[in-house]
This record gives sequence, C-alpha cells and structure tokens, in this order.
Amino acid sequence: MEVVRRKCEGCESESSLQCPTCKQLGILDSFFCSQACFKKNWKNHKIIHALAKGSGNEPKTDAFYSYPYTYTGNLRAYPQTPKRTVPLHIQRPDYADHPQGIPLSEQAAKGSGYIKVLDDEEIEGVRVGGRLGREVLDEAARVCDVGVTTDEIDRIVHEACIERECYPSPLNYLKFPASCCTSVNEVICHGIPDTRPLENGDICNVDITVYHRGFHGDLNETLFVGEVADNVKNLVKVTHECLQKAIDIVKPGEKYREIGNIIQKHAQYHGFSVVKSYCGHGIHRLFHTAPNVPHYANNRAVGVMKAGHCFTIEPMISQGTWKDVMWPDNWTAVTADGMWSAQFEQTLLVNETGCEILTKRREKNGQPHFMDKM
Ligand SMILES: [Zn+2]
Ligand SMILES: [Zn+2]
Repeated sequence: MEVVRRKCEGCESESSLQCPTCKQLGILDSFFCSQACFKKNWKNHKIIHALAKGSGNEPKTDAFYSYPYTYTGNLRAYPQTPKRTVPLHIQRPDYADHPQGIPLSEQAAKGSGYIKVLDDEEIEGVRVGGRLGREVLDEAARVCDVGVTTDEIDRIVHEACIERECYPSPLNYLKFPASCCTSVNEVICHGIPDTRPLENGDICNVDITVYHRGFHGDLNETLFVGEVADNVKNLVKVTHECLQKAIDIVKPGEKYREIGNIIQKHAQYHGFSVVKSYCGHGIHRLFHTAPNVPHYANNRAVGVMKAGHCFTIEPMISQGTWKDVMWPDNWTAVTADGMWSAQFEQTLLVNETGCEILTKRREKNGQPHFMDKM
C-alpha cells in the first residue's frame, strides 16, 4: 500500500494538518507540521488564497478567518450572500459604479476642511434624505428578532430603499458589499450583514444611509434581540443618552470639539469607554466630508457650528476598552477585548437656535426603538 507523503510547506517534515482556508478553496495539497510553522509561513502562504479566490467576490466563511486570526469575542463571521443590485432608474452616487468604489467627489473636497453652508434647496434635499433614511431604519427595526439573519435585515433595507427611490449609500462605498451595516454585540461598527441568525440576548446596531436625488441621510440605532441582560440594556441606554446630550449643545457658535467632551463625561461616569477610531462627519451631497466629529474628550477637531451645517453625531460606547481591532474582512471593527459596544446616530442640521434632527423617529415621541422593549 502506498502512503501519500505530505510535506509541511514550512519545514518539509512529515505533516497532517491541512490549511482550513485551502481546504475550503479546494486546494488539497497544502499541509503544515504545526500551528507554529503555519504562523511563521502565513505571510507567504496566504498569497495562494488570494490567487485562488481571484476576483475576491466569493462569500467569505468562518474558515476563512479561523487561522491565524484570533477573534476577540464570541461572535463569528458567517457566509455572506452576493451583492444586491439597484435598478438604474434610481440616481446613484459616483462610487456606485467605480471598480474600487472610490468616492471621487469626496476625494476632490478632501483637505480643504471647508464646512459647506447649505442653501434652501440643499436643506430641502437633506431633509428628505433624513426622513427616508428614518423610514428605512424603522422597517429594519420591525424585523430584527431572534432567528432572523442580518442578511435578511439587509434584504429588507435594500428593498425599502428601492421602494423609496433611494440608493443604499453603503453599497460599493470603498467596495462595501452590502446595503447597510449590521454590528452585533462586540462589533463596534461597519459589520457586514451575513447568514448568522440573531440570538436571544444579542444587540444589533443597524446603520442606514440612503441617497435620494443627490442627498444622503444617515442614522443608526442599537436594537434588542429578544430578552437582553440588564447590564447590556444599561450600555445601550447610556449610549443613547450620550447622543442626546451631545445634540443638546448643537447651536451656532459651538465648537465641534466640544461634542467629545460631553459624550466622554457621560460615558465615563457610567464606567464605559468611548471608541476613538470612528467619528461623526459632515453629510449632504457627499456621504462623508468636513467636519470631522470625534466623540472622545480633549480632541482637536476643527471648526465652529453655523446655521446651514449638516453633520452626524454617532458615539460608539464600549463596556471595556475603547480600543478597536479589525476583522480580516477589513470592515468589521470589534472591541479589542471582546466586550460589547453600542451606538446611536442622527443626522443634524444646524439652525438659528439649535438644530433640527433630520433623522428623528416620527412615532412614539421620537424615542429610539430599544425603549419600546425596556
Ligand atoms: Zn451611519
Ligand atoms: Zn455616519
């Protein structure tokens, strides 16, 4: 009987451990003698994964991340479904058809730091964008429940956008593969919808941005899935309070850098931390533009609020460390310690006396959806 010789790719010694990604990709002759050897040779070895995957459009699965990536918490990546399409009669942002998803109009505006003062027509544009974004988020909140996958939420969001003549702004933005972000438990933001069914006790942030007739509207809420633990409810409640307190100071003459002081003070008082890597942003004809709005204290954000400025505040508050790390999908931001993180976001238009919350909930006195379950 012939024995098939399996040589370790790293040191050529006898081996029987197969690379899980290769196995999944159908590369059946890839072996390593030990995890140590695998790790040592990972940098070169992973190139064959990239080659085998070609276009990179295939759904990613758990196995893709299983080694050498170490998850920080209990959540795992599940396979994704193919990118959805938007009918061509709906107005699209420039990056929708760029092969790398590059928003050329945003790049052109970059660096100037100039904060656009919207005229009456533009104010009407962002008002409609904000209202339609809110309607789409409400549709997502209605279906978010135990056993529902985030991919199913993405499908509902996608269809709700199309019904309202909106392009779902995240789709193909820097090649983002879905129509909204769904960030579960330890995911801070930019989670990619996938086929994992939501479990009782999870929290799921759904971040919606719509693009309607040339204007974006952006909001998100953290939703409860089934019965959520009291300490997690408290995290979500405090995160929402952080956003409310920040919105309360928005008025002409206020410095953008003050927002972070308000948010961190409240989060810290309750023993929580503020994520630093992701910020609020100007939004109107562009998805992300000046001003940059950090949520942490003692930041050096530039700019003073003026009537006609339109921007988001979207604090991400964590139970443990403020530090974030990225999954190998290059999108999903998770807490470095695997503890949970919550977020709320609204799009705001500065007016003469304060601000108008363009993405405010129009039922239940404007309270967020999680309060229906408190
Ligand atoms: Zn958002
Ligand atoms: Zn945003």
